[in-house]
Amino acid sequence: MTLKKNPSDTLIDRRHAIKIMVGGMASSMLYMSSCKSESFSNKKSIVNSSSTAGQVTTRLDYKSGKMLPLLGFGCMRFPVIQRGKPDIDEEYAMQMIDVAYNSGVNYFDTAWPYHEGLSETFVGKALKKYPRESYFLADKMPTWAVNNIEDAKNIFSQQLEKCQVDYFDYYLLHALNSQSSFEKVYEQIGTLEFLQQMKKEGKIKNLGFSFHGSVEFFEFLLEKYDIWDFVQIQLNYFDWDDARQQSGKLYRMLEEKNIPVIVMEPLRGGMLARLNPTTEKVFKENDPDVSLASWAFRYVATFPNVVCVLSGMSTMEHVVDNINTFTDFKPLDRNELLVVNKALSVFKEVKPEPCTACRYCMPCPYGVDIPGVIDVYNKNLGTFNVPNLNSPRDEEFKRKKRVFLNSYTNHIDHKAKAHRCINCSKCVDLCPQDIDIPKFMRKMDNLVASLKKEA
Ligand code: SF4
Ligand code: SF4
Repeated sequence: MTLKKNPSDTLIDRRHAIKIMVGGMASSMLYMSSCKSESFSNKKSIVNSSSTAGQVTTRLDYKSGKMLPLLGFGCMRFPVIQRGKPDIDEEYAMQMIDVAYNSGVNYFDTAWPYHEGLSETFVGKALKKYPRESYFLADKMPTWAVNNIEDAKNIFSQQLEKCQVDYFDYYLLHALNSQSSFEKVYEQIGTLEFLQQMKKEGKIKNLGFSFHGSVEFFEFLLEKYDIWDFVQIQLNYFDWDDARQQSGKLYRMLEEKNIPVIVMEPLRGGMLARLNPTTEKVFKENDPDVSLASWAFRYVATFPNVVCVLSGMSTMEHVVDNINTFTDFKPLDRNELLVVNKALSVFKEVKPEPCTACRYCMPCPYGVDIPGVIDVYNKNLGTFNVPNLNSPRDEEFKRKKRVFLNSYTNHIDHKAKAHRCINCSKCVDLCPQDIDIPKFMRKMDNLVASLKKEA
């Protein structure tokens, strides 16, 4: 197969060069408890990792006894044929999967809503050529789509069919965010009992859940049930102490219960890979050669109870950079942790909208490109290019206005802009980050309208 021409081709060569440079087999056990930071203390020393030349480091999932790649392939953000649309650029995405798989990234995490239903089918197609036992496949029950037990059964059997497999290695109750919907869907309807039956029948090897709710609800799930083989949480250096996410607390609770953690959103939807120049400078002063993403990945993988870090890779460049980060993985040392803390305090001053581009809110019935509009706002915020309507109309204001309006015009189709929002509320309960989407759209629309009026 000929690789598509893209800027990352040179990076593929770099990956092979690294393989050659390292050479030979170099297995070693890493015990993460050597890290002295309080945040990273490992009371139980339950984790061990193994590094093999040219392959990403693996870590023991001590519940299943399997060595998982520390880097997992999130199948939510494949390259697409047209920006804002779900159709996957299959040839390119297939190449990315092949490069990842050949570097030991053999954990793939898909779900019913990813790419508006197309991800599972594509993943099934892409992995078919590999022996089933050579990779781990994770899929999820879409909690919001289950109204009765027949729904759950149909969805599960369709998922097996779409993915062209007889079993899922990891299966999750997707995006649990409220106790009442959990009780309705999983307890009253009987979906949890059904999934446990699927586990008995070998169609699910490990059962867990992904989470976007309160600490109290999380506690309820861990106290009431001792069935969880793993739990997937949003973890990154931005959310560790965040009042809404409280990722640090969730991580600690899982550590206490000896439940392995799989990490989602290590880059917070890409936000931590493209910081504003002031924050970026903090990292670059420490090491000018590594990517911002690599800092965020190393941060989460330094936690000893993390067995796999998911990354929703969209380009070959992402794949190669991530493989480099996770090959012969080095946890952050004390000085590097201080660098992260310093960068975080600089970054938090900017207050971006906490969108992770998960697209759970999509499609908007009125055509608004919700994550796209928020992304334009955040990117401009990060580069200090969101004009403040209360500031003097000087040259600097005019420059910001020009940059901001240009980026909005160039990146968002007219029919997908914030003014199309009619406040229908369909998206409101779908956002796991609790963003008040209609309110944000009004804010964006007012800002754009005011700037245009001043022309
Ligand atoms: S509230 Fe606005 S953005 Fe959300 S679904 Fe309705 S029209 Fe779309
Ligand atoms: S607004 Fe919320 S649901 Fe929509 S993409 Fe962003 S984080 Fe996801």
